[in-house]
Amino acid sequence: MSDLLKRIAEITGAKGLITGEDVHQRPADWMGQTQCNALAIVRPASTQELSQIMKICHELGQPVVAAGGLTGLVQGASASADEIVISFERMTGIESIDPVGRTITVQTGAPMQKVQEAAEEQGLMFAVDLGARGSATIGGNIATNAGGNQVIRYGMMREHVLGVEVVLADGTVVSSMNTLLKNNTGYDLKQLFIGSEGTLGLVTRAVLRLAPRPKSDNTAMVAVSDFAALTDLFRHVSDNLGGALTSFEVMWKEHYELVAVESGRHTPPLDAGEAVTARRDLEYPRRHRSAGHGVDACRDLRHQPANQENGSLCRPAEELR
Ligand SMILES: Cc1cc2nc3c(=O)[nH]c(=O)nc-3n(C[C@H](O)[C@H](O)[C@H](O)COP(=O)(O)OP(=O)(O)OC[C@H]3O[C@@H](n4cnc5c(N)ncnc54)[C@H](O)[C@@H]3O)c2cc1C
Repeated sequence: MSDLLKRIAEITGAKGLITGEDVHQRPADWMGQTQCNALAIVRPASTQELSQIMKICHELGQPVVAAGGLTGLVQGASASADEIVISFERMTGIESIDPVGRTITVQTGAPMQKVQEAAEEQGLMFAVDLGARGSATIGGNIATNAGGNQVIRYGMMREHVLGVEVVLADGTVVSSMNTLLKNNTGYDLKQLFIGSEGTLGLVTRAVLRLAPRPKSDNTAMVAVSDFAALTDLFRHVSDNLGGALTSFEVMWKEHYELVAVESGRHTPPLDAGEAVTARRDLEYPRRHRSAGHGVDACRDLRHQPANQENGSLCRPAEELR
């Protein structure tokens, strides 16, 4: 073992260092299609450990690459043979939740889903959500400024981070674990690290905003005949739902046919002959709550002459099941 790895092992202990053939047994991507080829995988258990590790790497000019859940789709967490992977898999704790201030403080190796579930236990919601939620980590979400499927209502990750703790390349710890929403003091340094893909520092802890949990949600699938009808639909539901539209997902005709028809695994909920299918997720705060509210908005659209001309179809979620 090299002098570098021996010094790292003294900090992390055997549990915190993976070397040799064991490194190649680990995947380099979320599908497990590529193997990790790094010099070593280092798994610090705390900010202090990581700070010491980074000091050594800095001293010896050793490059490192941060890795979270490896679900990033641009290989930002892939390391080459002369690089060390810094994995956050031993830093997954939920440190605290403040249900009044609506914040959650976490270590950044925590998977997104774990954070969502912790928030739900308090009747709250972590509003950034994406398909890779079970594996993607908060550190990865911050480093990529993740968007996700509710972005039109709740915004990108940037809008959900109140504070961060970061270890810089030379091991310096920068801590700005602000928990206050209304904070206009000085420079907002955390914004530099959000979306920087680990190039400016390694994010170890974060304070995240939580939101009230919606009291109900409704989903509808709508078929439209062309792009103009699609944008009409979007404007209509956004304008008429008082800001309660959470998601608007479009499936092109080819995609819809592939999944709903050609796969042979599903009963197509709408005729596959339609051009474009949009799936809307509508969320109602208590004051808007009434059975069928979202469906009514959808029905209104169907009855508009312009959309009849476009041949829009609209069926409430209950009918689609
Ligand atoms: C099925 C699926 C659906 C997805 N949907 C979306 C979506 O809707 N919206 C979206 O934006 N993305 C989406 N993604 C992409 C991906 O899930 C996100 O980019 C996610 O934020 C990456 O998190 P991760 O923990 O897997 O990060 P990784 O892939 O491990 O790393 C991503 C980048 O972050 C850096 N990094 C990781 N942890 C840290 C840290 N603690 N400190 C500093 N840098 C760090 C890495 O070096 C790398 O550059 C999807 C991916 C999949 C597989």
